[in-house]
Amino acid sequence: MRCDHCAHDVPDGVFCTRCGAHQGTTEEFGNAKLREHRYAAHPGEHVAQPSVITTLFPHLGHHKIHEFRWAFIAGLAGVLILYVSGLIAAAILVAAFLVPVLYLVYLYEAQVYRDEPATVLGFTLGGGVVAGIVITVIVRLLHNPITSNPNPLAGTTVDVAALLGFGLLVPLIQEAAKAAPAIFLPNRKDFPETVDGLVFGIAAGLGFSLAETLINFATTLQYLGHVAPANWIYPLTTISVLSPLMQGSATGMIVAAVWRQRLGKLGGREIGAVAMAVVAHIAFTGGSQILSDVSLSPLLILIWQAAVVGAMLIYVRYLLHHALLEEAAHMGFAETVCPSCHMHIVASGFCPNCGMALTAAPTHLKRSRRERKEPTRRGA
Ligand SMILES: [Zn+2]
Ligand SMILES: [Zn+2]
Repeated sequence: MRCDHCAHDVPDGVFCTRCGAHQGTTEEFGNAKLREHRYAAHPGEHVAQPSVITTLFPHLGHHKIHEFRWAFIAGLAGVLILYVSGLIAAAILVAAFLVPVLYLVYLYEAQVYRDEPATVLGFTLGGGVVAGIVITVIVRLLHNPITSNPNPLAGTTVDVAALLGFGLLVPLIQEAAKAAPAIFLPNRKDFPETVDGLVFGIAAGLGFSLAETLINFATTLQYLGHVAPANWIYPLTTISVLSPLMQGSATGMIVAAVWRQRLGKLGGREIGAVAMAVVAHIAFTGGSQILSDVSLSPLLILIWQAAVVGAMLIYVRYLLHHALLEEAAHMGFAETVCPSCHMHIVASGFCPNCGMALTAAPTHLKRSRRERKEPTRRGA
């Protein structure tokens, strides 16, 4: 059959295996070529669905998504149990490590780093940890919330100087420092696709988040006894979920935009991603600072942070979805099993049944298809 959108002859299917367009009459979903009702990395969801695992772990197949979701929930339950038992220090430690450790398992599971785990992990997760240590230590030396404000939870005035410095400048410096190691990855030519850049950026952001949380925690250790244990549920939520998601998606967007620029595809969407990462980061930290300075309920701060993170996740998906559709190279027709719908398919770039972009498949699946057919992947 002939695709209405790219005019290639392709096997019969709901989706074109070359360009990923939704075939037939799909006016009810809007633009069939852009198919935003079918997110290219996880076609069961709309692009604008702020789902955590399918956004930040794009290489996971359908079954693995559930395993990671349950591991994430189990980790959060662990944090909650430690909190209820009054073991606040242990709860903070588990919360800080939860998402970064899940990501390490994901990188291993999907073999995102292919044959070079040491280099890739060193320049992404490791680079983020080093950047996090250096920047957080410097910021702590310049501004210690304990000594500059004897009772940080009871502040009632907005400290404008601190807000400008630490609400605007620090996020900017953090974004530059987090993205740098992944951008200078020495063997980056082995990872040409934007989905790789995105994952490397997220890994760097999570490494940074881990280091930042641990250092902030160590420097405020003496402060632990001054806070009623009941109040720790709010910072624990930020530490375990919202802060890593914010740091990870911000750096993911920036590094993905750099990857796009290398492919010669720098457009409004990519520039928007860098702007979105910086603005959202400033909104997250600066906004939380203002809300706590005017003594609003800590629950309101969490809602604000969650709203910012939700918007960031949707932008990550929007960026990756269009990158996967635009970077659809003809990979040669090969028999494979779709990681999303588990059908045996003959496909090139997209699953003809569910529309998943096969560039976002785990590495072992990509390898098994390459063995059968000629290696015709452009840019590899
Ligand atoms: Zn097509
Ligand atoms: Zn499929």
